[in-house]
Amino acid sequence: MSNVCQKIVAKDYCIGCGVCAGACPSENLEMRDSVGFGYVPFDRGRCLDACDLCLRVCPFADGNEYEDDIASGIYGVEPGVKQCPEAGFYLSSYVGYVENEEHRQRAGSGGIASWFLAELLSTGVVDRVVCVAKTGRSDSLFEYRIMNTCEEILQAGKPAYYPIELSEVLRLIMKTPGKYAVVGLPCFIKALRLAALRNPGLKERLKVCVGLVCGQLCSKGFTELIIRRNGLDAGGITEVCYRSKKDGVSARSYGVSFTDAKEEVYNFSDMRFFWRLWHISALRACTFCDDIFAETADVVFMDAWLPEYISEFRGTNLIIARTEQVNKMLLHGLESGSLHIEPLPIDRVIGSQAGVVRKKRVELAYRLWLRQRESPPVKRVKPVRPPFFERLRLLAGSYAARQNIQALHAQIASGAKGIDIYSRMMAKHFLFQQVLKVPRKLKECILSVLR
Ligand SMILES: Cc1cc2nc3c(=O)[nH]c(=O)nc-3n(C[C@H](O)[C@H](O)[C@H](O)COP(=O)(O)OP(=O)(O)OC[C@H]3O[C@@H](n4cnc5c(N)ncnc54)[C@H](O)[C@@H]3O)c2cc1C
Repeated sequence: MSNVCQKIVAKDYCIGCGVCAGACPSENLEMRDSVGFGYVPFDRGRCLDACDLCLRVCPFADGNEYEDDIASGIYGVEPGVKQCPEAGFYLSSYVGYVENEEHRQRAGSGGIASWFLAELLSTGVVDRVVCVAKTGRSDSLFEYRIMNTCEEILQAGKPAYYPIELSEVLRLIMKTPGKYAVVGLPCFIKALRLAALRNPGLKERLKVCVGLVCGQLCSKGFTELIIRRNGLDAGGITEVCYRSKKDGVSARSYGVSFTDAKEEVYNFSDMRFFWRLWHISALRACTFCDDIFAETADVVFMDAWLPEYISEFRGTNLIIARTEQVNKMLLHGLESGSLHIEPLPIDRVIGSQAGVVRKKRVELAYRLWLRQRESPPVKRVKPVRPPFFERLRLLAGSYAARQNIQALHAQIASGAKGIDIYSRMMAKHFLFQQVLKVPRKLKECILSVLR
């Protein structure tokens, strides 16, 4: 019987969420670090005959329920729920932030995600919360952890643009009775929902799923190259903060900081380099994802990338609530003075993620067409032949991503700290990408004038 290792990992479609390994009844799959990338399941040769559970919980395996199918079973019955193609089911949508200044400054964006998770615990909706936290270890900077106190949850904020996996935590959830909430990226939540569909016990324990909008998940190499760009050895860095908020600049102009074992802090402010590298550092599975707003999560948080909020350096959240329970908790937060929130129409929320919508819908259709011969994962989005310049741009993008990986491995092998040659290559690639965008931008401009 073939498993995820042959069908998903071998084709490089694995996101490394670890749900397959956590759900595996014979504990045959073990999540291992794939140097420079993320985690992948490793086959220990104890696969049970006639068991395909790992494939049935995999968010990138063909034949499983789509996000709409899963969501319709959970939210389709909510009175007053609406649905739209980009955001999936939704009951209400808001813009806001936490009123506690210190908490807001410490959070990745407006701080409502960690406030909400702590609120679930303090009001007894759940007994434990599964969050992502720093490890203090240079080989694996972040991990999923089960948290039992609000303090731990509030300390864990800030986004981790770094691979993490759920296998150990999932095994613990299945062993330890209780009510759990989990925060995760869209594909992680989808995998958990698929696992819950196959395991009624897990379904009973998984009380609330909290999603984060996701543009992409970066490989470990992304962080490693940024650290090396600062002339530092990635092996000596024990903490990374991807979002150091800076007073007086826009919410997008944050910096990155690293801490080493001696607690020395280094600041990285070459955000041009950060963003160029970001665009070519996605795990390959991300290039086959069509879930923008974590459609299978009860609530989803994101940044308010809209002109009227972007100038606020402390960060502002946009929120989509899919259940009445979530809606009531948010409104209670407003009444109690913990939150500042106001309704925002769903089309504005979708508009705030225009780049992600383009990448996960329009460009995904092109990518599926370009890779038809390798039988890519079957998605809700269907393959579409890309216009000539878009085709060139996407091919250049995947070439640059390959170069990125090779450069990283060469750098690791040489032990060098700086990455100057690599950064020159990236600058050329970036220029090429910008030139290839001109025909599309021109077309969009003409169409908007004609309209
Ligand atoms: C990889 C990644 C890509 C993202 N892409 C976008 C995007 O394109 N557009 C957008 O608007 N927003 C994106 N976000 C979400 C955004 O960065 C904020 O996390 C979100 O707005 C919540 O902000 P907050 O201040 O309310 O969160 P906080 O109050 O700081 O709480 C964040 C919570 O998320 C958890 N967490 C952190 N990293 C991860 C992770 N990798 N996986 C699971 N849980 C995690 C923390 O444990 C914490 O509980 C992304 C986040 C991540 C991790």
